[in-house]
Amino acid sequence: MEHVCRPPVPEGRTGVVTREKKGRRILPGQPETAGERTVYLAEPRGMCAGVRRALDVLDGVSGEVYVLHEIVHNNFIVSRLRKRGVHFVESPDEVPEGATLVFSAHGVSRQVEAQARARHLRVVDATCPLVKRVQASAAAGVAAGELVLLVGHGGHPEVEGILGQAEPGGIRLLERVEDVAALPEADGRPLRLVSQTTLEPEFVEMLRREVTKRYGIVPKQGAGVCYATAQRQNAVRRIAARAELVLIIGSPRSSNSNRLREVAAAVNGNALLLDHPDELVPAQLNRVRTVGVSAGASAPEELITLLLLRLYDAGFHRVETVRDVCTPDFRHSEAGN
Ligand code: SF4
Repeated sequence: MEHVCRPPVPEGRTGVVTREKKGRRILPGQPETAGERTVYLAEPRGMCAGVRRALDVLDGVSGEVYVLHEIVHNNFIVSRLRKRGVHFVESPDEVPEGATLVFSAHGVSRQVEAQARARHLRVVDATCPLVKRVQASAAAGVAAGELVLLVGHGGHPEVEGILGQAEPGGIRLLERVEDVAALPEADGRPLRLVSQTTLEPEFVEMLRREVTKRYGIVPKQGAGVCYATAQRQNAVRRIAARAELVLIIGSPRSSNSNRLREVAAAVNGNALLLDHPDELVPAQLNRVRTVGVSAGASAPEELITLLLLRLYDAGFHRVETVRDVCTPDFRHSEAGN
C-alpha cells in the first residue's frame, strides 16, 4: 500500500514527496526552489482523541452491534463499518430487544437512555468525555436553578443530547445572535452559558457578549468548545494565511470540519470541504501554487495521505508542516461544571 511517512516534516522545515519503487514518501529538509508548488500541512489535524476512543470502543464490541447515529460524522469510516456488518440506527426503538447498542461520540439525551433501558438493550457508551462534561455542566446549572443557555446547531446529535439533559425547554438553545432577544426574563436566576464542542470559540464569545448586553450580567462560563477543535482551527488559520487554496478533508455532516472550512475561508476566501480526495477536480488547482491541507476531527489520516498523493500528481512536491497550539483562553472550560 502506498503511504506517506509520519511525522511528515518537523515544524518550520520543509519536505518533498518523492516516488519510490514501493510507494511515495516525504523526505524532510529539502530546500524550496523558486516557484515550487507547495503544500502547507496543518498540525494538529484529523482525528481527535475522542473520535479514536469511540472507534476503539466500537472495535471492542463483539457480535451483532447497533450504533445510534453515525459513530462519528465521516462517510468513509461509516461505510467501512457498514461493510463490516455494523448497523446504524436513528432510535433505540429500531434495535431488537436485548441487543447491543453503542452510543456515538456525540452523546445522547436522558430520554434516549431511558428508551434503551426500556428495551433491555446492552448499552456501550462511546460518548466523548468532553461532550459528557458539557452535558454535566448544563445539567448542574439546571439543578442549581440557573437559566442555562446552550450555543449550538439545532438538530445536531450532540446538541440534542445536551438539551436532553433537562426537561424540554429547560435549556435554551442559541443558534444565532437574533435568538438572544427571544430569551425569557432571568427573574433573578443566575445565567450559565455552555456550548457545542465543535464551534468556533469567537462565535461563542460573540453570543456571550450579546447575552451580557441583554441581561446586564456576565453569564457563568460552563463547558464548551474542546481543545481539539480550538487547536485545529488555530492551525488552519495559519495555513490559510500562507496558502492560496485550503482543502479540508471532512464529511458534510461533520460540524468541526465545516467550521474549519469557514475559518480558512474567513482568512483567504478560498477553502473547500472534501468528503474524499477523489472529489478534488484538477481544474481547482489551476494557477494555484500553494495549497493548505487539514482535516476535521473525524477524518482518518489515510484520506489526508491520499490527498497528498493527488496533490503530488498535480505537481505539489514540497510539503511544509505548520503547527499551532491551543490558545489557553480557548481551552475547554471546567468552570461551572
Ligand atoms: S472534537 Fe472534541 S468533543 Fe468532539 S470527539 Fe473530538 S475531542 Fe471529543
